[in-house]
Amino acid sequence: MAVYLDCAATAPLDPRVQEEVIKYLSVEFGNAGSHHPFGQRAKKAVEQARSNVAAVVGATRGEVIFTSGATESNNLAILGLAARGKQIGKTHIVSTKIEHRSVLEPLETLSQQGFKVTLVSPDSGGQVQAQTVLEAIRDETLLVSVMQVNNETGVLQPIEEISQLLGKHRAYFHVDAAQGFGKEIGQLLSRRIDLISVSGHKIYAPKGVGALVMRRRNGQRPPLTPLMYGGGQELGLRPGTLPVHLIVGLGKASELALEECDSRSEQCRKFKKMILDKLQPLNPVFNGDLNLMTPYMINLAFRGISSEEAIEALNGVVAISNGSACTSTFDSCSHVLSAMCLDEHQIDGALRLSWCHFTDRPDWAMFIEAIKKLGEEVKTTTMRPSKPSIGPRKSC
Ligand code: PMP
Repeated sequence: MAVYLDCAATAPLDPRVQEEVIKYLSVEFGNAGSHHPFGQRAKKAVEQARSNVAAVVGATRGEVIFTSGATESNNLAILGLAARGKQIGKTHIVSTKIEHRSVLEPLETLSQQGFKVTLVSPDSGGQVQAQTVLEAIRDETLLVSVMQVNNETGVLQPIEEISQLLGKHRAYFHVDAAQGFGKEIGQLLSRRIDLISVSGHKIYAPKGVGALVMRRRNGQRPPLTPLMYGGGQELGLRPGTLPVHLIVGLGKASELALEECDSRSEQCRKFKKMILDKLQPLNPVFNGDLNLMTPYMINLAFRGISSEEAIEALNGVVAISNGSACTSTFDSCSHVLSAMCLDEHQIDGALRLSWCHFTDRPDWAMFIEAIKKLGEEVKTTTMRPSKPSIGPRKSC
C-alpha cells in the first residue's frame, strides 16, 4: 500500500484521541448546555479541552472558542472585525499573497464592501518580510493577517518579528496557524498576536473541529461580531450545540502536542533529512527556502516532469499532492508558487510531500525508479507538447 505523505492535507487520527472521541460520542453523550449530570460532565470535558488548547499558545481558557475548523476561524476573525472597523473608520487590512483561500476570500468580500486590502508579496524563498508587512501598515489599518506556516511550501513566516514590529500599533494581529499550531509552539506565544486560527485535523484530531484564540489586550477581547446567531454558545460568537466529542478530541490532541512536540519535531526532522538524502540522485528543485521550512513538509519539482505525471507514476508508492488539497485541481496553478515568482517548470512540477510522527518509510527504491523511468519517457516522447519558455511567470 502507498505510504501516506499528505499530512498537510489531513493527518491520521491519534488512537489516544480516537478513544476520547468515541467515549464522548457514545457513553458521555450529554449536551454541554444541559444542567443535569450528563450535561455537566460534558461541560467539564469541554472546559478541560478549552484549557488544553489555550495552554498550547499560553492563553487562558476564556480566550478560546471552538469552531468547525480553521476555515471558520479565519472567516470569523476577519469578517467578524469588519463592523468595528467601519464604526471607527479603520477600513484597511494588511495580509499576504500566500494566505489560504479561507483568508483571501473573506478579504475579497471585505474589499467589495469598501475595505482597502494590501497583500504583501513573499520573496522567492516563500517568506514575507516582516519589514514589508510593517511598511504596508497605515493609521487606518484595522487588521494584519499573516499565516504561521504556508500550507503549500511549509515555509515559516516571521510571526515573532512581525509581533515585535507591530508593538503598540492599534491594528489587530491575526495568525492562521492551521499548519503550525501544536508543532511550532514558540512563535504563537507572543501576547501581541490577538487572534489565532486552529484546525483539529492537522494535529491528529478529527475533521470538523477547530478553535479561535482571541487574546485580551489591555483587558479587552478583539471586538468580533458573530457570523451566526442562535443559542448564545461560545460567548455568542459561535452559537450551536457543541460537538463535545470533536472538542474533546481537539483538547486531547492539543495536550499530546504540547507534551510530545519536541520528540515529534525531532522525528520529523530526521524523516526530512532522509527524504533529502534519498531523493538527491533525482536532483530535485526545491520550491521554497529549505532552511525556512518546517520539519513536516517539503515542496519540490523534478525537472521536466509535471505534477500530474509524477503523482500518477508514484501512485501505489506514495500518496502525495501538488499543493493544497483545496486547490488541487490540476489545471489551477498555485497562487502561492506564482506569488514567489518561481519558474514555470517549478510550478508545473510542484509536489508537496508532508508527513508526521506516524509516517512509515516509503519504498525509496520504487520512488526513484518511477521518477527515473518517467524522466526517460518524457525525454523520448517526441509528441509531447513543448512547454513555453522556462522563466518567471508573467505576473512577476
Ligand atoms: N489555513 C491553512 C493554512 C490550511 O492549511 C488549512 C487546511 N488546508 C485551512 C486554513 C483550513 O482548515 P480547515 O480544514 O480546518 O478548515
